[in-house]
Amino acid sequence: MSSLEQKEASSSDDIVMENRTTIPMNNLRVSESPSSTVPQVVIIGGGYAGCLIGRALEPEMKSGKIKLTLIERRDTFHHKIGAIRAAVRGKEYAERIRIPLKNILKYTKIVEGNVVSVRSDDDVVELDDGTCIRYDVLVCATGTLNHSSGDLPSHLRGKDNIRDYFRTVSEAVKNAQRICIAGGGPTAVEFAGEIRAAYKDKDVAIICSSPHLLSSCVAQPPVKFMSKLYEKLRDLNIELLRGEKVVSPTPDNFTPGQKFVQGPVTVTTKGHVGIKREFDLVVWAATWTLNNEMYPPEWLNSAGELNVSDNFMVTGCDRGNVFAFGDVCSVAETKQAITLHPKVKYIAHNVLAVADTVRKLKGDKDLLLKKLPKLKNYSWTDKVVLYLPIGPDHGVSQVGGWTYTDSKTRQWKGEDLYTEHFWKLLTGNPPPPKPTEESC
Ligand SMILES: Cc1cc2nc3c(=O)[nH]c(=O)nc-3n(C[C@H](O)[C@H](O)[C@H](O)COP(=O)(O)OP(=O)(O)OC[C@H]3O[C@@H](n4cnc5c(N)ncnc54)[C@H](O)[C@@H]3O)c2cc1C
Repeated sequence: MSSLEQKEASSSDDIVMENRTTIPMNNLRVSESPSSTVPQVVIIGGGYAGCLIGRALEPEMKSGKIKLTLIERRDTFHHKIGAIRAAVRGKEYAERIRIPLKNILKYTKIVEGNVVSVRSDDDVVELDDGTCIRYDVLVCATGTLNHSSGDLPSHLRGKDNIRDYFRTVSEAVKNAQRICIAGGGPTAVEFAGEIRAAYKDKDVAIICSSPHLLSSCVAQPPVKFMSKLYEKLRDLNIELLRGEKVVSPTPDNFTPGQKFVQGPVTVTTKGHVGIKREFDLVVWAATWTLNNEMYPPEWLNSAGELNVSDNFMVTGCDRGNVFAFGDVCSVAETKQAITLHPKVKYIAHNVLAVADTVRKLKGDKDLLLKKLPKLKNYSWTDKVVLYLPIGPDHGVSQVGGWTYTDSKTRQWKGEDLYTEHFWKLLTGNPPPPKPTEESC
């Protein structure tokens, strides 16, 4: 095996190599083809989509029908929906939105690592430390990276670093009087609402490039919802500047390791008016990028999403053993975590059906496409479901044709931001107690 020293990793299904970029697959020593005995299902991403599908598949692993591996950059699940509150309230609140993966997936093999490529011809996932993991069936659930302070920077790992991250941004909020939020989606509105709930006297402005808020939602909320939203923002003294794109500062000016710019800094916009105004803090709530860099280009559509059919199989892959779930894939709905749960049984059924076929074919996946089992299709809905809190006590919600305001929005989402819901759904246990106001 030449100068490259290769050694078997802890599992017989893994391979560790020193130089990941130059080794062709046929040079690798693999002690066992995983599909020769029990099919190996690999999930990439331990966010909402990856954890939900992992939970649904674990019983099949316990019964010996499949082997199950989940690969995630960090050893914890990050409850993004509660993260804007943690960004304002600080490190104590951050504890409630961090769930150790081992509490969610008790029997699955969890690999803490960063996937850098998927070698589709060889059915192998490759990590940045050179580890390769073979799969019989792959589930891609790598989601997106949101450029607001609510999403953790990709490199950030470890409990203490995550607490420090939220401590730093919450201190920046605390120390600023004039705060600008750049963005026009739900995250921008929630950020403004959380700041207003915690600090009655700060000047808070949302600057949004579109003529309307929420213009990026696939299913547009009706006029009644939008007028209630504008009314609430006015009542809460949150300034809204629409049709103005922030051109300076830019994310290049971020405080290192963070997603904000501390001032005093002059914000310049391009738009109807063209604003030039000084702020003490500029936070982003505008853009996101898909975590898609590891996939073969033929799997992606023009927007960079993994193209899936109604059964969640990736259409650009001609092997019949790759599925995608969650924000990274193309769906005809607004991408949300709360709407993933009803889809889980479809994708879990399909993954298991393909895994079972691989087992029957004794691992000969070249025959898989010809022998594909009947898969279940999901019917997408265009029903608008949007819960938009503006702090714990205010907000607007839309469920189908019905618009609701403060009390229902608080009850459904604002009070706890689904923290208890996701803890119970993913672990069966309640979250740690809420921090007191003094400890935040
Ligand atoms: C601030 C904020 C508020 C939100 N509020 C709501 C809300 O109220 N309701 C709602 O339904 N949705 C909300 N969303 C959207 C929701 O968070 C997403 O729809 C959801 O996160 C999608 O889940 P996912 O598992 O597909 O992706 P993610 O949650 O993005 O998870 C992807 C996982 O893959 C991992 N990963 C990525 N690349 C790699 C790699 N190369 N190697 C290993 N691991 C990798 C990541 O670390 C991450 O853990 C909000 C999002 C944000 C940012």
